[in-house]
Amino acid sequence: MKISVLTLFPEFIKSLESFSMIGRAIDDGILDLEVTDIRDFAVNKYLQVDDYPYGGGPGMLMQAKPIVEAIESVKTKNSKVYYMSPQGKVLKQDMLLSLSKEEHIILVNGHYEGIDQRVIDNYIDEEISIGDYVLTGGELPSMVLIDGVTRLLDGVLAGEESFSDESHFNGLLEYPQYTRPKEFRGHSVPDILLSGDHEKIRKYRLRESIRNTLNKRPDLLDEKNLNKEEKEILNDLLEGGNGNGFY
Ligand code: SAM
Repeated sequence: MKISVLTLFPEFIKSLESFSMIGRAIDDGILDLEVTDIRDFAVNKYLQVDDYPYGGGPGMLMQAKPIVEAIESVKTKNSKVYYMSPQGKVLKQDMLLSLSKEEHIILVNGHYEGIDQRVIDNYIDEEISIGDYVLTGGELPSMVLIDGVTRLLDGVLAGEESFSDESHFNGLLEYPQYTRPKEFRGHSVPDILLSGDHEKIRKYRLRESIRNTLNKRPDLLDEKNLNKEEKEILNDLLEGGNGNGFY
C-alpha cells in the first residue's frame, strides 16, 4: 500500500520511518510512505504558502495553489485524497480497515487556520478527523492514521489474531490480559486462564470482553449486532449473573 503525505513539516512525518513497526513495514516493502513538502509548490520565490482570509478574521489560511499542485504531483487514477480536519468524519477502527484496503491514499495536512475551501470542495474525497478537538496541524492526525492502518496490512503483525481480538475490531473492547508471575503481591491470575481448556478460555474471554464494554463503553453495545451467545452473556451480566453455566 502507498501513503502519500502532503505537509509543511516533512521531517516530522519522516520520523515515522524509524518507528519499529512502520519502519519494518517500509523495509519489507509492505508500506510505501511518500512525503511531499507543500512548500515545493509555493506561490512565489519567498516560498509563500499562506495568506489572509477574505472577509477578515484571525490567522492565515493555506492557499489553494500549493496544495492542489502537491496533490497533482502524487495522484494517480487509483488514489483517494483525504484532508485531515477537525470537521471530518471521526476516525474509527472500521474506517482504518477500509483505508488499509486502498491502493494509494493521499493525506493533506493543514496548518494555520486551515486550507482554502475550494481545495476541499474540488480536490478532496473525504475529510477525516481524529477526534472532536483542534490540533495545530494535520501531521499528528496523519501519523495516528498511518500507524493504525499499517498494523492492519497483511504481514505487518504476526498473524490476524494479533488484531482481530483487539478492542474495537469486532465492536467490543478487549478482555483483560495477564502475564507471569501467576501471583503478584497477593493478586492472582484468574484460575480459568491456567486451566489449559481452550473452549472455556474462549467463553471466559468473550464474557469479560462484553463485561468490559458494558462497564467502560456501553454505547458500543448499541451499535453492535450481538450474536446469540453474546446476547445470552449480556443478559446474564445485566441480571447480575456470575458466569456459572457459561464456562
Ligand atoms: N480553523 C480550523 C477549524 O476550526 O476547523 C482548524 C484549523 S487547525 C488549527 C489546523 C490544521 O490542523 C487543520 O487544517 C487540520 O489539518 C489539522 N487538524 C486539527 N485538528 C484536527 C483533528 N482533530 N483531526 C484531524 N486534523 C486536525
